[in-house]
Amino acid sequence: MHSDPALQHDISLRPFNTFGIDARARLYLRVASDAELQAALADPELARRPRLVLGGGSNVLLTGDFPGLVLHIASTGKEVLPGDTTHVHVRAAAGENWHAFVQWTLAQGLGGLENLALIPGTVGAAPIQNIGAYGLETKDVFHSLTAFDPGTGTTMTMDRAACRFGYRDSIFKQEAGRHLIITSVTFALPRVWQPNLRYAELANAVAEQGFDAPTARQIADTVIAVRRRKLPDPEVIGNAGSFFKNPVVSAGQCASLLERFPTLVHHRQPDGSEKLAAGWLIDQCGWKGRSLGAAGVYPRQALVLVNNGGATGADVQRLARAIQDDVEARYGVRLEPEPVFV
Ligand SMILES: Cc1cc2nc3c(=O)[nH]c(=O)nc-3n(C[C@H](O)[C@H](O)[C@H](O)COP(=O)(O)OP(=O)(O)OC[C@H]3O[C@@H](n4cnc5c(N)ncnc54)[C@H](O)[C@@H]3O)c2cc1C
Repeated sequence: MHSDPALQHDISLRPFNTFGIDARARLYLRVASDAELQAALADPELARRPRLVLGGGSNVLLTGDFPGLVLHIASTGKEVLPGDTTHVHVRAAAGENWHAFVQWTLAQGLGGLENLALIPGTVGAAPIQNIGAYGLETKDVFHSLTAFDPGTGTTMTMDRAACRFGYRDSIFKQEAGRHLIITSVTFALPRVWQPNLRYAELANAVAEQGFDAPTARQIADTVIAVRRRKLPDPEVIGNAGSFFKNPVVSAGQCASLLERFPTLVHHRQPDGSEKLAAGWLIDQCGWKGRSLGAAGVYPRQALVLVNNGGATGADVQRLARAIQDDVEARYGVRLEPEPVFV
């Protein structure tokens, strides 16, 4: 068996998931570098275990105890690379905290990531669900990443096309890429920066502060202020951010829903489909602020499910299913969870 004294047995994962679910892991290892990661997986005893790669634990729902090895990615390091004529490249190790990385790029005088400020979690997890907020997604600023394949023991570089990014989706959530462990991510930030204020709520918040020609720093500060107002702090109340994806439906389905529900909140997509606001659907079904056992719907944002204290993964799942059933019965749309169920 792996002789690393850092290997822990039968520990609570409560400090390692923002929902604050008290599930246990059979084995837990924090890896602070790629070398440590590779050494752990070179051990046949550890490599054969069911594996859960964990970053900040801000997008997982632990539905029960984990019978295998939790590999907690805690590698650090970030650097500015030369890039090309139009973009500067910045690379960070997978275990770096995402928000601290965004702040660091701004401190280097590099704009481009500011709309994604204050999203919890690690740099390595950002490509997994192509994190997005306020009109920007990871894919828009992504250059490449490195990923370790435990099956072959090799590290590969993947560009944007190889990652198959979609709305809250990538190859790493699919069969073809689920086994890969992201070790670093490189972003391409524009040499000539322009604000991205396509998202109306952000544009209004920036205008309200009297910023006519906002800097990237000012946009980041505005995003942080808006997020603090709207979203629960996981340090105070357990949650994983938006619990459901916004469902995407055909233009025809949206039109027939609008006939019955004229105030339906929807956003046309570039391909003609329509994205419905999942929070609005949940709110209309009367779930905002309601609880089922120890799991509840956040009173200020119906898209966020919270742990009111002592909730299990099963409690959250029960609440999620009740919401899905109600929304489907009323609107004919089945909501899909955003976090990864473990
Ligand atoms: C308050 C709050 C607000 C949020 N707001 C947003 C938002 O605006 N937009 C948004 O998109 N998301 C949001 N999220 C969700 C979450 O922050 C992101 O999905 C984040 O990228 C998850 O990072 P993590 O390190 O915590 O991942 P984890 O929860 O640790 O892991 C998530 C998944 O990625 C896998 N994984 C993690 N690291 C690696 C790696 N290095 N290699 C391979 N697989 C890996 C895990 O196995 C798991 O399947 C929010 C969450 C919270 C709690």
